[in-house]
This record gives sequence, structure tokens and C-alpha cells, in this order.
Amino acid sequence: MATATDALLAAARAREAGFEGSRAVIPSMHVAIVTCMDSRIDTFRIFGLESGQAHVLRNAGGLASDDMLRSLVLSQRRLQTREIILMHHTDCGLYRTDEPALLAEIAADTGGVPPYAFGSFQNVDDAVRRAIERVREHPYLPHRENVRGFVYEVETGHLREIVM
Ligand SMILES: [Zn+2]
Repeated sequence: MATATDALLAAARAREAGFEGSRAVIPSMHVAIVTCMDSRIDTFRIFGLESGQAHVLRNAGGLASDDMLRSLVLSQRRLQTREIILMHHTDCGLYRTDEPALLAEIAADTGGVPPYAFGSFQNVDDAVRRAIERVREHPYLPHRENVRGFVYEVETGHLREIVM
């Protein structure tokens, strides 16, 4: 039975003929965008980006987790980005997720719990503020003067800045 992956592979092969051409590894706009894995966030369309212009880093929630910070440090120290956009969004799957219940479910299924937090939050604006603070306070990032946070409204497409 064909999977969704099979369908996506067929689409990728069909698009090879229209490949935009090789790009430099250094993002030409020198910016890194951190956002959620949510399927409604089309980062390239939202910002009018093309291949080769920006780093796009994603995880569940778009949180400034240790691994996200690891990627940002590499992005700045080896790949010459200097600005960071942190973009959370409305109707996030992590919003009001009952984290204790999730951990209990995992423990019941597997007998163990993962060593990481899922990062559930109650207020998206506060979650953006925490991410901005965490990035701005990360001492291994050489460029922290242009770190801005936003909430993308999946209902309207509006991007709302969170001012600290
Ligand atoms: Zn999300």
C-alpha cells in the first residue's frame, strides 16, 4: 500500500526538472528563523523567501530548547547568520497540552519517560518572551542584538510582534 511518503517522493522527483540551481551554504540574508513544525506555517511563503536566503529551524512549538540553541550557535559561528526571528503561532499543538498526562501515557505504554520536557505552555505571548530571553541570554551566540519574536496567526496569516 502506498504511503504518504511514496506520494511525496513522486512529487520530489517530478520537481527535479525545475531545480532552482545550486546555492551557497551561507544564507544570503544572514538570518535564522526559528519556528514550530506546524504544517500550516509555510515559512518561505510567509517571508517571501527563496532557497539559499535564510536558515529555517523547526521543532514542536518553535521552542528555544538546548538543541535549538545548538543549531543557532552553529548557524552564527560557522554559517554567518547575524539576526534571529523567533516565530510561535496561534492554535499550537503544544498549547495547553497536559504534559503530566502525556508523560503518564508514555510511562504506561513503555515503562519509561523521555529525558526531555515537551514544553507545553499556557500563553503563547509569554512563550515567545521566554524564547527571546533564552536566546538573548545564551552566551555562546555572538550576535544577540537582533533577536525579535512574533506570533503568527494561523487563522488570518497575520504576524504580530511581541515587544519585550
Ligand atoms: Zn505549533
